[in-house]
Amino acid sequence: MTTIAFIGLGNMGNPMAANLVKAGHAVTGFDLVADSLATAEKNGVAVAANAGAAIEGADVVITMLPAGKHVLSVYADLAPKAKKGALFIDSSTIDVDSARKAHAIAAEHGLLSIDAPVSGGTGGAAAGTLTFMAGGSRDAFALAEPVLKPMAGRIVHCGDAGAGQAAKICNNMILGISMIGVGEAFVLAEKLGLSHQALFDVASTSSGQCWSLTTYCPVPGPVPNSPANRDYKPGFAAALMLKDLKLAQEAAQSAGAVTPLGAEATQLYALFNAQGHGGTDFSGIIRFLRGEAG
Ligand code: NAD
Repeated sequence: MTTIAFIGLGNMGNPMAANLVKAGHAVTGFDLVADSLATAEKNGVAVAANAGAAIEGADVVITMLPAGKHVLSVYADLAPKAKKGALFIDSSTIDVDSARKAHAIAAEHGLLSIDAPVSGGTGGAAAGTLTFMAGGSRDAFALAEPVLKPMAGRIVHCGDAGAGQAAKICNNMILGISMIGVGEAFVLAEKLGLSHQALFDVASTSSGQCWSLTTYCPVPGPVPNSPANRDYKPGFAAALMLKDLKLAQEAAQSAGAVTPLGAEATQLYALFNAQGHGGTDFSGIIRFLRGEAG
């Protein structure tokens, strides 16, 4: 049993903390929202009055927060108060520069840390099948791995500080671009009188094959579980896709990488969001490509 503090008990944090409780860990949590705390309590998480109280005696501090500024402010608050030798794990999706700053704050206070963003969404969080992409030292990763296990389907050590966030945004940039490519192909097929099923049958076993087509097909029919079959209810909301594409663009600028298709995908998802579709699954961008969404 490990004593764990969990800061940020939202859509992802709450089910993740619940899986740590189920695995027999002593989990104390804190969130700014009272409803989130009430849900956590029902799941067996001990609720603290503030973040400082939540980390008292904790061997591991996990954060699951909206953005880099929240993570940096929580790290600045908590690192000086943490138990000697505590491990800090940040599973939020944040920009690579902030992730590296968070590692530096932990190191200043003699703490080990890893960035460990996830993919798998709220379904994966509830099922304990998230993929964790970890960045940090070998020692920090060795300590983190058994703690992450009850929440994980797969855990990959991607490299040093920030490498987990780098892997996450590179992967999601591929996803955003490929979904637009698959959507455009279906729209072209429709104009050419080619059925969705015929395009799927050919492309899914040809060189056009990709996850956006075969797991998350953006038209109803060929892949019965894809969000297109339930009117594009997420799934993975377009607002979150836009967040990740923007993080990829920030990182590309900061690192001097040329990513013109990533930039274009960011603009298209920004327009889709601006039309009020942030809560739609990101595969719903096909409607925008058809000129339907508005
Ligand atoms: P969420 O908004 O539901 O949860 C974030 C929680 O953090 C909120 O409950 C908020 O009250 C809390 N919070 C903010 N500042 C705080 C502070 N100073 N102290 C304590 N609590 C604080 O968001 P989410 O969907 O749970 O996502 C969390 C992170 O995981 C984000 O970075 C997101 O990009 C990433 N993520 C989300 C998904 C998904 O499908 N929802 C998938 C992968 C990654």
